[in-house]
Amino acid sequence: MSIIFGPINSRRFGKSLGVDLSPSFKQCNFDCLYCELKSSKVTNSYKDIVGVDEVIKEIKEALEKYKDIDFITITANGEPTLYPNLKELIKKINSFKGNIKSLILSNGSTIYKKEVQEALIEFDVVKLSLDCATKRCFKRVDRASKEIDLEDIKRGMLEFRKKFKNRFQIEILFVKGINDKKEEIEKLNQFLLELKPNIIDLNSIDRPPAYRVEGLSYNELFEISTLFSKELNINIANKKRIDAKFSYSKEEILETIKRRPLKREDIEALFDINSKKELEALLKTQKIELKNGFYQLKE
Ligand code: SF4
Repeated sequence: MSIIFGPINSRRFGKSLGVDLSPSFKQCNFDCLYCELKSSKVTNSYKDIVGVDEVIKEIKEALEKYKDIDFITITANGEPTLYPNLKELIKKINSFKGNIKSLILSNGSTIYKKEVQEALIEFDVVKLSLDCATKRCFKRVDRASKEIDLEDIKRGMLEFRKKFKNRFQIEILFVKGINDKKEEIEKLNQFLLELKPNIIDLNSIDRPPAYRVEGLSYNELFEISTLFSKELNINIANKKRIDAKFSYSKEEILETIKRRPLKREDIEALFDINSKKELEALLKTQKIELKNGFYQLKE
């Protein structure tokens, strides 16, 4: 049983120290189709609860050992907001963490609860999952315990968003043939326009999950990203499965950029050598520009 894991390096969060609030076994109110943990009965409360003092002691020891930590990431072998002492824990972490930032990764299921909002508001970054915007899809992908209602989650997210002034992120994990349909994405888009998260990560399955489901490639996620409104800050988080680099003509590059401005990393993932040359040529002719890290049409 290990409460602390990592540190893990990531582009977005730098050097992150992981804290697992359910280190002995999975305790979750979802049974997602894509879960990498062994399938288990859903639960709405932790049966095995690690004491706050024990978690704090382990974090402090880890911070002594590992220097230059950027983030303390609260997560769980399951759902961290089911941990009954979350508010007490984050308040204690905040009292000694200094410049280190705190992040929580949650499935979003409990965000409508007052006590959960009170705990989450103490974090520097809150990242919640939202895989579907319709009940039917939610039932198929996230397979939540009966007490959980998607409309409560959506309402809770909107309510929390109004109060929370720090970085608020949403992650959507796509499962092939289920929540990647155009109609579902339209509904997600509508809701996200209202929610206004700072960042929306599009992701898919990395490792084989407990159930036989298929993930989406980078290229497929890219196609999905073009279906979201331009004002949403969409990030393709899964760079692992890149099918093939595309060969784009100048016209195709312009058309793609018109649909969605591209980041340097999108170019690296999608463009073959010739496409990169065409992109350079377009930059020279000033049809496009690189502004705030995005290749976009010149205004
Ligand atoms: S919310 Fe996370 S831990 Fe729970 S079933 Fe889904 S993927 Fe697994």
